Parts: sequence; structure tokens; C-alpha cells
Amino acid sequence: MTDAGPVFLGSEIYRRSSYGGWHPLRVPRVSTVMDLSRALGWLPRDRFRTSPRAKPAALAAWHRPDYLAALQRAEAAQAVTEAERAAYGLGTPSNPVFAEMYRRPATAAGASILAGELLARGGVVYSPAGGTHHGLPGRAAGFCYLNDPVLAILSLRAHGARRVAYVDIDAHHCDGVEAAFADDPEALLVSVHEERRWPFTGALEEAGAGQVYNLPVPRGLNDSEMRAVLQALILPAVAGFAPDAVVLQCGADALEEDPLSRLALSNNVHCGVVAALRPLAPRYLVLGGGGYNPWAVGRCWTGVWGTLLGAELPDRLPAEAEAVLRAVEWRGNSRARNPAAALFETLRDAPREGAVRAELRDRLAVLEARVRAAALRWV
Ligand SMILES: [Zn+2]
Repeated sequence: MTDAGPVFLGSEIYRRSSYGGWHPLRVPRVSTVMDLSRALGWLPRDRFRTSPRAKPAALAAWHRPDYLAALQRAEAAQAVTEAERAAYGLGTPSNPVFAEMYRRPATAAGASILAGELLARGGVVYSPAGGTHHGLPGRAAGFCYLNDPVLAILSLRAHGARRVAYVDIDAHHCDGVEAAFADDPEALLVSVHEERRWPFTGALEEAGAGQVYNLPVPRGLNDSEMRAVLQALILPAVAGFAPDAVVLQCGADALEEDPLSRLALSNNVHCGVVAALRPLAPRYLVLGGGGYNPWAVGRCWTGVWGTLLGAELPDRLPAEAEAVLRAVEWRGNSRARNPAAALFETLRDAPREGAVRAELRDRLAVLEARVRAAALRWV
């Protein structure tokens, strides 16, 4: 599918399901991206594929069968026992029992597994429902029931890619993905995440087998700082690694408007990272991730899709697209009271530039030195 252009993997399951009335994932995200993309004329039939639901046997490529059985049982019964809660992290405030608690993550995982197949001969695939980077083999964590990025990497490998570069710009550290590939010299992992934030892993010193690069960043990270990270760390690390595939986890919770994190990026950063990584491997999979302000996420991930398509991002959204954003409700959050008009009328944020702080430069220098040393080994 090298010449066929990018493919968007989505599903209607994200429109009708919710993690529950007070959960950050009560808001629509993927359906907003689909609706907004359609309103902009960016989602013709030949670009869209409905993502299949992965079967337990496929999920068992990384997840434990006893956990998968417990997850299906919990969905069917709409309840968990105390023992299951303790053993599997199911039925907790962050990973609650809800109607589609198996089918929904299995659909996102199905997209990631299918992506490996679609990319066998190269190309670009976008699955904004993916990016559930906290899932563990036998346990749910951090809103993630399964780990679709891990399954994507395994699927890419099963379909001809050997060296895979995984880049994660979510506000949280990708602990589940690191658990899977920390010791795998043919999986490059680069994560940029807010310091001193859950899951509290991903320290600068955590290097895996030497191919893991963790950059904890200070609160208030701005566009100028993230551009420095892209130029000094992400691009040299990925280019030097010469990957067969790049997987980008494009979490939108590092945006200024996000209610869960304290970073301050504009969505121009996401589009910039997406575009900059494109030429570095023949296979390119872009996933979603965190992001809990429904307007900010919808705009950001639609901009990401427009970038992958090579479309011109409009300055002012047409009325039909604005109506999509205005119809999205966000109950129970103070940030929803007086949202800025720009959240409805535009796709791109205004840039959020600032100084590149010394503490960030120092950490970047440590990783830059490691990238330079590794590049000599990789040649
Ligand atoms: Zn996150």
C-alpha cells in the first residue's frame, strides 16, 4: 500500500461508549476526530477502514490468557470480584467496569494489529483510538486495559519489520511499552513526559539495553522547548537507529488545555512531530493516547490526520466543522465553563513559544551524548 496514501482506522464503538460519568474518558474523542475530518472533506471512503475487534488469541501475543478471560468475564457480568480487582486492576476508579470494557480496547488493539499487516509493504496508518501505553500483560492500569502499542510493534515484526522506533509524546511515561521492550536492542524507545507525574517511571537514567531514552520535562513545557527536544533528541535518535518502522504515540494531554497534566504545548507541536518523523522509515503508524479536553483533543488529532494527508490546515474552520465542536459536551469540568472561542473556530492553536529552560537543556545534553555514542554503534 506504499502509494495508496494514509489509512484512518476508526470505529463507531468510541462514539457510544464511556468510562462512566466522572471518568476523564467520559468525553468523545475518536468520534469527534472522525466527524471533524468528514466535515473538512478529509475522510473519503477510500481513506477510512473500520477497525476489527481483536480476538483473545491475538491479544495473547502479549497479554496473559487468564487476564484476558477476566476482562471478558467482567464485561459480561458488569462486575468483578474483590480477588479479580486485586489481581487484575479491573473495577478500579481509573479502570472501571463499563459496558464495552473488553470490546472497546479490543477494537483499538485490533486496529494496531491490523496496522502491522497493512504496513507490510510500507505506508502510513493512523489509529487515534490507539496509544494505550500503560497496559501490562496481566493487569489494567492508567485507563488502559490492553497495550495496543506493544501489539502494534509485535504485529509490525510479524509482517516484515525488524527494527522499530517507538516515540511517545504523551504527558505520561509509557511504562507498559518500556516493560515490553526495555531489553530489546531492535526496539528504540523515546519518551518525553512530565516529571513527577504518574506512573513515576521513565527517569532520565532509565536506559534499558541502551536504546531507551526517557526525557522527563518540567511543568509548563512550551513549543520552543519541545522543538528543541525534537531536533536534539527525537530526530537524531530515530534517524540514527535506521528503523524499518516508526510508531508515534501522539497523546494530546501535553496540550495547555488538558485538565490532567501541567504542560503547555500548542497542537502545532503534534503536527510538527508527525510531519518530521514521516520520512524516517518506510512504515509509519501514528496512534492517539491521552488527552482529556474533548475540544483540544478533537482539534489536535484532526490536525494530525490533515498533516498525514498533506492537507492545508484551515485558519478558520468552516461552519460545518465548527458545529461538530460546538456539539461536543464536557460535563463536570471547570474548564468547560468558559471555553475560548478558538477551541471551536480554529484547528491550529496559536503558538506557545517561550524560553528553553536550563534544566531542560541539561537533561537534553545527557541524552544527546548517549544518542551520539549509540549512533557510532548502530552504523
Ligand atoms: Zn497521558
